Amino acid sequence: MSKAILTDITKCIGCLKCVSACKKENKLEMDVPRIWQKNDGLSAENWTSIIKKPDNHYIRKQCRHCLEPACVTVCPVGALHKTETGAVVYDKDKCLGCRYCMMACPYGIPRYDWDEPVPYVRKCILCYDRLKNNQQPACTEICPEQATIFGERDELIKLAHQRIKDNPGKYIDKVWGEYEIGGTSVLYLSDIDLGFLSYNTKLGTKPLPQTTAPAMKSVPYAFVGMGGAMLGLNWIIRRRDAMGKTEEEKKEATDE
Ligand code: SF4
Ligand code: SF4
Ligand code: SF4
Repeated sequence: MSKAILTDITKCIGCLKCVSACKKENKLEMDVPRIWQKNDGLSAENWTSIIKKPDNHYIRKQCRHCLEPACVTVCPVGALHKTETGAVVYDKDKCLGCRYCMMACPYGIPRYDWDEPVPYVRKCILCYDRLKNNQQPACTEICPEQATIFGERDELIKLAHQRIKDNPGKYIDKVWGEYEIGGTSVLYLSDIDLGFLSYNTKLGTKPLPQTTAPAMKSVPYAFVGMGGAMLGLNWIIRRRDAMGKTEEEKKEATDE
C-alpha cells in the first residue's frame, strides 16, 4: 500500500514548523523560514514552503510524489525513481543536472542546486529514510494543528471525503491529487482553488508520462544518445574532481 500526505488548508495556521523540521531532518542550509507571497519559496535548500493567500490562507507546497511521475520518465539516466513507499527519490550521484525533470514537472517542484561544482536537482523525498524505518515524515510529525498528516493513501482519501461530507459548505468538493495526472501521494483538502500550485490549471486525469515519454523518445538523440554521452561526461567530471582532491591531499601531506 502506498503512503501519502494529506494537507488540509483550512487547518494550517502558517506557523512554519513543517518548513523548519524539513530543513533540520534533511540537513538543508538554515535560513530564516519565511511565508512567501510572491514566489513559491521552494529552492535547493527549501523542500517545502508556505505560501500566503488572502484571508489567512496558508498553503504548504512540496513535491506531490505523483503515482506516475513525469520527472522519472524524462530523466535520461534514471536518477529519479518511484519507490514502493510512494516516495519519488533521486540519486544525486547519477543526476547530470540536465533539468529535463524541471521542465516535465507540472507543479514546478525540482530545483537546481547552483552552489554545487557539478549541479544537481533537489526536492522533497517524502523523508524516504524515515519511511523505511516505519517513521512518518518530519513535517507531518511536527505539525501542531494536524493540518498535514501522514498515512495510507487510500485511508487518507476516505478521511478527506468524510471531512467534506461532515462539513457541508466548508470545503471545495474535491480531494486534490486523488485523480489529477493519474493521482499523487500528496493530497489536499481546501476551501480555495489550488490550481495555482500547477503550471496548467486544467490538469487532466491522464498520467503525464503517457504524453511526455513519447515526446521525449521521438527525439532519440536528446533522450538516449545525449543522455548516455552526458552520463559519461558526468562520470569523467566527478572522477577528475575526486582525483584532483586526492592530489591536493597528497600535496598538503607532503607540505606538512
Ligand atoms: S510533483 Fe513533479 S517532481 Fe514531484 S513526483 Fe511529480 S513530476 Fe516528479
Ligand atoms: S516529507 Fe520530508 S523531505 Fe518532504 S517536505 Fe516533509 S520533511 Fe521535507
Ligand atoms: S506545521 Fe502545520 S500548521 Fe504549521 S505551517 Fe506547517 S502545515 Fe501549517
